[in-house]
Amino acid sequence: MKNSRFVAGAVASFLLTMVPHLGTAQEDAGPPPILFTNVNVFDGFNPELIMDANVLVEGNVITQVSTDPIDADGAFVVDGTGKTMTPGLVDMHTHIMFETPEGTNSYQDEWDFGGGGAMAAQAIRENYLMRGITTIRDIAGNSRGVARAVQRGLLIAPRVYTSGGVLSHTGGHGDWGDRNDLTANDYGEIVQNSFKVDSRDDVIKASRRNYRNGAHFTKLMAGGGVASRFDPLEISAATQEEVEAAVEIAENYGTYVAVHAYHDTSYQRALDAGVRSFEHGFLVSEDIVKQMAAKGEEVVWSFQCYMSINSFGSYETMPDFFTHEQKLKGVAVGEGARNAAKMMLENDVFMIGGADMFGPGLSEIAKEDITCKVNEAGYPSAHVWKMHTGNAGKVLKWSGPLDPYPTYAIGTIAPDSYADILIWDGNPVENIDMILDESKLQLVMKDGRAYKNTLVEADSIMYRPGTTKASIMQFQ
Ligand SMILES: [Zn+2]
Repeated sequence: MKNSRFVAGAVASFLLTMVPHLGTAQEDAGPPPILFTNVNVFDGFNPELIMDANVLVEGNVITQVSTDPIDADGAFVVDGTGKTMTPGLVDMHTHIMFETPEGTNSYQDEWDFGGGGAMAAQAIRENYLMRGITTIRDIAGNSRGVARAVQRGLLIAPRVYTSGGVLSHTGGHGDWGDRNDLTANDYGEIVQNSFKVDSRDDVIKASRRNYRNGAHFTKLMAGGGVASRFDPLEISAATQEEVEAAVEIAENYGTYVAVHAYHDTSYQRALDAGVRSFEHGFLVSEDIVKQMAAKGEEVVWSFQCYMSINSFGSYETMPDFFTHEQKLKGVAVGEGARNAAKMMLENDVFMIGGADMFGPGLSEIAKEDITCKVNEAGYPSAHVWKMHTGNAGKVLKWSGPLDPYPTYAIGTIAPDSYADILIWDGNPVENIDMILDESKLQLVMKDGRAYKNTLVEADSIMYRPGTTKASIMQFQ
């Protein structure tokens, strides 16, 4: 039986993940070869699937993709007839340290950093990995330790690229203190979820501290925000020299800066300073969009569809934990978002996507941010798939020497890519809504190891529905 051979290998490999590793577990040899046969492949870029392909996984890497037969002695064979293989999905805008019920306001009094970290570990396993999001880019919040634990094989979770604490001016989008706080005593800053920076020197110091402790790139709040109390949306937060200082230090480390910003002034400053990743931008003009397009793949626009168009679509749909003022800001963003999304697509700006959803009830539905881009923003489905796989993988590599997964590509089904693989019962590139039906997601493989596998019968030891609780029970 083909499946049972696969089963045995994957069980062994799953158990391997339970053993604490002291070295770089992700780079170890991993399980025996696995050969997927006769499967239709979306490679992360090309809208045309490679029909009836064979894909060989050796250890944690994809070594062959071919429409010719692949000769692989001793490989476990998985029959992919009628199924679609895609790269694991990538969410390029998460905030895993704010999985606490009060979002960014959580650390004022209710939760400490230990509780926040525990909630993060559970959420990224349940809400991302088990649902097919095999890599996340965490972009504000001190997830450096969580990222390192995943990288060393200590947590069952998606790959985590992290900015570490966000850099924000006092009173900016990363200032989550109370009005009467002495800024230096803000708990969020003590645990380095954010750094309040009010000068070029502050930016340099915070950037270096972040990199020293394991950040892979820098996130800077360059404009006002919605989920914060003290900053009107219109403000230009970081000064020109502060943005330039962040870029200078990032470039010294061979990595890049991502900015949170909504409007022209802050986007222009960031463009002039050499920032590469532009989040949000829902209030920008076509002039800015054209400048971004002219830079090709030097810069990227990061689109949060569900947050901007759905959640912020009306006052009533705004998250409950927002104040009245925050809700009004959100509505303004929602109004601009459709227009910005249209201009970015029409001008062929290089783009990625991330949900920006955090807290109970929201990160669970991160994949609705992907379907939103097709159903609400009118983007072609294959384009959206590319944003969340191939393009995302390219941007992750901008971390250069700080890349925690430097050996192979991410977000593609191609030789020399990490074996982060999803198998779908049907074609989710044609029908995007399929990604919300967890029963259609039959295999979640990360780094060559299977975490969910319903390709086998429910009474098989390898049957794993998409919840951690049930999948752990299989092995007790
Ligand atoms: Zn965000």
